[in-house]
Amino acid sequence: MKPAPFIYHDPQNLSEAVNLLATNENARVLAGGQSLMPMMNFRYVMPDHLIDLNKVSELSYIRVEGGTLKIGAMTRQRDIEFSSEIGKHCPLLHAALAHVGHRQTRNRGTLGGSLCHQDPSAELVNAAALLGATMHAVSRRGTRDIPFADFALAYMTTALESDELLSGITLTLSIKSMGYAFVEFARRHGDFAIVACSALLSLDAQGSIADASIALSGLNHAPTRPAAIEQALRGQPLEAATFKAAAAEAEKLDAGADAYVTSAYRQHLARVLTYRALEQAAARAKEIQHG
Ligand SMILES: Cc1cc2nc3c(=O)[nH]c(=O)nc-3n(C[C@H](O)[C@H](O)[C@H](O)COP(=O)(O)OP(=O)(O)OC[C@H]3O[C@@H](n4cnc5c(N)ncnc54)[C@H](O)[C@@H]3O)c2cc1C
Repeated sequence: MKPAPFIYHDPQNLSEAVNLLATNENARVLAGGQSLMPMMNFRYVMPDHLIDLNKVSELSYIRVEGGTLKIGAMTRQRDIEFSSEIGKHCPLLHAALAHVGHRQTRNRGTLGGSLCHQDPSAELVNAAALLGATMHAVSRRGTRDIPFADFALAYMTTALESDELLSGITLTLSIKSMGYAFVEFARRHGDFAIVACSALLSLDAQGSIADASIALSGLNHAPTRPAAIEQALRGQPLEAATFKAAAAEAEKLDAGADAYVTSAYRQHLARVLTYRALEQAAARAKEIQHG
């Protein structure tokens, strides 16, 4: 199928882009086009104006600044995948990207496109939830920061207003000293996950769990951060029984069903993947502790 007719705009900088977004009704921004173009071709999305961000170079960057990692919305997934700065400061993003689509889709697909598309199973959305990303929105009215927890409003719907675009995200770098893991179950490599689980673990001087974060996606419209499970892990010994108990709680989380996957199956995957993620994150946390 072909998309419905639209007017194409080719802004050369951010100020032009936000002006176009503010002054045109039913406008969409185009990033890598890996999700938007198929949706337009299927006529799920029919914008009257398409604002192409591909020449807005201000939105493409990876910077380490004063204990934070800043990534621009138009940074290609492939650039994040090959960034040594990301590998050094936030290897979880590399682990997540290993599951995202194919190298062709990652060549074009952007960080911001994935976060704004908000597929419930998208790996970068899961990573942003785990890492507690701060989302930076910009419009002609100014800028505002949105904590990731408030960004996903509903199924594939973000907190961005119609005249706002995502300019980038900021991550704090305390995560550098934590063991990490990203595991998922998908029908084929490169497909969206049915359920994915990521984890961060740090250890105290005795080798018990000092801090734990978990994000599960594929259960609901946005990744779940199970605060009670994370809390219960703190202070626990680093052993199989600890991970098993956490995984058993993960199986009790609410999960939606669709025509292909029952909620019981998603809950089963939540248990299995939580166990695996904690086990892998624990092994990396031990390596960090032993230098
Ligand atoms: C074959 C195939 C397999 C894939 N597999 C996976 C997978 O396993 N996991 C996964 O996570 N993804 C997968 N994807 C999707 C891919 O990751 C896309 O890159 C991503 O979903 C959208 O990024 P994009 O840059 O292409 O954005 P686009 O498609 O250009 O835009 C997506 C949406 O976000 C909006 N948007 C984009 N940028 C901004 C911004 N800066 N501010 C506000 N709104 C914005 C657009 O208006 C649009 O609504 C796959 C895609 C394909 C084609």
